Amino acid sequence: MTFKELNISEPILKALANKKYVSPTDIQERAIPVALNGRDLLGIAQTGTGKTAAFAIPIIQQLSRMEIRNKKREIKALILTPTRELAIQIDECFRDYSQYTNLRHTVIFGGVNQNPQVEKLKQGTDILIATPGRLLDLMNQKYISLEHIRHFVLDEADRMLDMGFIHDIKRLLPLLPKRKQTLFFSATMPPAIAKMSDSILFKPAKVEVAPVSSVVDTIKQCLYFVEKPEKSKLLIDILAKDKKAVLVFSRTKHGADKIARVLNKQGIGCEAIHGNKTQGARQRALTNFKSGKTRVIIATDIAARGIDIANLEMVINYDLPDVPETYVHRIGRTGRAGNTGTALTFCSHEEYTMVKDIQKLTGKKLNTASIQA
Ligand code: AMP
Repeated sequence: MTFKELNISEPILKALANKKYVSPTDIQERAIPVALNGRDLLGIAQTGTGKTAAFAIPIIQQLSRMEIRNKKREIKALILTPTRELAIQIDECFRDYSQYTNLRHTVIFGGVNQNPQVEKLKQGTDILIATPGRLLDLMNQKYISLEHIRHFVLDEADRMLDMGFIHDIKRLLPLLPKRKQTLFFSATMPPAIAKMSDSILFKPAKVEVAPVSSVVDTIKQCLYFVEKPEKSKLLIDILAKDKKAVLVFSRTKHGADKIARVLNKQGIGCEAIHGNKTQGARQRALTNFKSGKTRVIIATDIAARGIDIANLEMVINYDLPDVPETYVHRIGRTGRAGNTGTALTFCSHEEYTMVKDIQKLTGKKLNTASIQA
């Protein structure tokens, strides 16, 4: 299957060729035709499946066919996503895929001064990517009107619920026009999310790919039995042997800082990202990592959500997460879009029950590696 066969217009095909996308991913192949027909969509897919392009491409195509008559542009598409990192990444996708159209896009999120965002909004935008808090805030200040919205995307709905945004979303929904296309994405379908999707979608097409319990076969998983005091030495040994770019997961912010200190002392360039770091520091760390300036990044689960690095080769779970689904999300940072990847997990005696839960969820046994290997 090619993008051309999905009836995607020339300017978008050209942009996708620049991105070196050869063929659509599973979710793109199934969601794009439905969305191009103007239907509502319930997409069950996690980050890494190519879901951003699955909603961005049909929105760009539908909007670029509309004539923009008024000098002042109204917001016609709203994409709501839980974190700043995701918002920035989605905005970058819209920038790339719409580069040969005359559409404008803007991103807004909290934790930074609102003035530059307000200035961009005043210039007019067709597509707005937003986190819920800042959106409601700027709406209250009358900088944003949603009355011309034709396309609404609710991204990572289950994460929104986890992060406590559900009330913000419930406040927002009645403010959107009744007639619009809604594209709803979630990695999992807990009852509260299923209920919400039922209430806002009209006869949706349901597209489900790689449910959260499944780990793509391109990821090689490996387990090390190692007690807590020995974990940093093992990490240093692995990083010394392997010169790959590595994302290390720490369950706590404090733990992430501690690992970073130990590695830096050994001369291994690394940066930690977590909720206590400023937005600027997190973004800088990500940019350095993406450009190869920093080889190792240590992240907590929330901070890592939305880290999108093509070709990330290795993920290391320095400690086990609290819930098995998080393991699947973590290792899904590697082995993306058909690439291969490696996921190493450090497991102490007391963490072993979590490994059993993970094996139960994924239906796969984790191979054990010897520390000397
Ligand atoms: P997402 O699930 O939207 O976060 O996308 C995951 C990664 O896959 C991103 O780095 C995208 O740039 C990349 N990607 C999306 N669609 C394709 C495609 N059709 N071919 C190759 N890479 C893609």
